[in-house]
Amino acid sequence: MTLSELGTYTAQQFEQVYGRPARWIAAAPGRVNVIGEHTDYNDGFVLPMAIERYTVIAAAPSDGHSGSVQLHSTAQNSAPPIDLSQTLKPAAKGTWWNYPLGVIAGFIRQGARPGGFDALIHSTVPLGGGLSSSAALEVSTATLLEMMTGKELGPVDKALLCQKAEHEFAGMPCGIMDQFISVLGRKDHLLLLDCRSRKPELVPMRDGSVALLIVNTNVKHELTGGEYAQRRAQCEQAAEALAVPSLRDATAQVLEQGRARMDETVFRRACHVIGEIERTVHAAEGVRASNWTTVGQLMYASHASLRDDYEVSCAELDAIVEIAARIGTQGGVFGCRMTGGGFGGCAVALVRTDAVDAISATIASEYEAATRIKPTLFVSRPAAGATIVRSGEAGGPPYFRRR
Ligand code: ADP
Ligand code: MG
Repeated sequence: MTLSELGTYTAQQFEQVYGRPARWIAAAPGRVNVIGEHTDYNDGFVLPMAIERYTVIAAAPSDGHSGSVQLHSTAQNSAPPIDLSQTLKPAAKGTWWNYPLGVIAGFIRQGARPGGFDALIHSTVPLGGGLSSSAALEVSTATLLEMMTGKELGPVDKALLCQKAEHEFAGMPCGIMDQFISVLGRKDHLLLLDCRSRKPELVPMRDGSVALLIVNTNVKHELTGGEYAQRRAQCEQAAEALAVPSLRDATAQVLEQGRARMDETVFRRACHVIGEIERTVHAAEGVRASNWTTVGQLMYASHASLRDDYEVSCAELDAIVEIAARIGTQGGVFGCRMTGGGFGGCAVALVRTDAVDAISATIASEYEAATRIKPTLFVSRPAAGATIVRSGEAGGPPYFRRR
């Protein structure tokens, strides 16, 4: 579905549930990280892309101007009415409306108090699939609230407000990438984001002969050993041994010189992070130059490093990357890697647009043969970030504006 069709569908759903037309409609995309994994908490770079999958939220002032908020999602059970005259507090952990609730609380904290409203949420971003449906939900809600309250946040403030909602209401201590790309994504561009300075830089990717193919392994291995916390601690240990504030400040040479001051595992973790930060910057240059062979090689190198040095891959992700490599540039695959935290979730491949169907068919059949699991695949070009689909009078024609 295009964003326009999705807006129309969501407006219809709103009318069906609430019996009157929506006045405002906002949308925000999910994302895939093209390269730069486990670099964010090391003050490094990430290179995400907004995908052509969106969360759309349609709303209208509540009947009788009740001062409460009614949230309905086509994917979940309805939330109980939220009373805006009370201080907003998070619901139980794992409750889906914590995300929009946290965003509403963020606006109120800034002195932008909305009136009561009814909202309907519909999304084509898979929930919990590693493509950041959570940020899409937060950013679409924030874009809606900008229209409703008249308070326009700058893009960075808006992304940070959404991140805070995820920290404080959803209890998820996420980085800044997901919210930044969902706000700032632009059609035909990737976003090179410096996680230290928070400086975003759009990287043009106008060459329509290539696209990103996202392959969901449809597995999520349960972790029991606190693997993420352990990786973070190991990165801190390495930085301390090298006497640098974070691994962003180290180079491969500095690491080699400090090798004796850390154990072998910590050394390999640092190898990944330092190499990955460098690869991410190079990949952005490669994208700028439409040098797809180089970008693809960097993606394969990223995967090998995540598998061997950072040890966050799994058999299913490795299988997809191996199948992609076998197809090779001859068959239209430039590169492939796991994306997201690891231990399952999605892989991302840089592919030739005209070969997408054949590549998808091969990956799907060979992955299923190897693992007995059906993968989910879809292709995307770099999409637009947060968008206003309808603003103003109920039932008015949809129109699109970047926000
Ligand atoms: P991801 O962001 O990778 O999709 P998360 O676990 O961070 O995974 O966020 C998924 C959660 O966000 C869902 O379990 C749900 O609580 C909430 N969510 C996201 N999109 C929607 C939606 N359209 N309707 C209701 N809840 C949603
Ligand atoms: Mg998320």
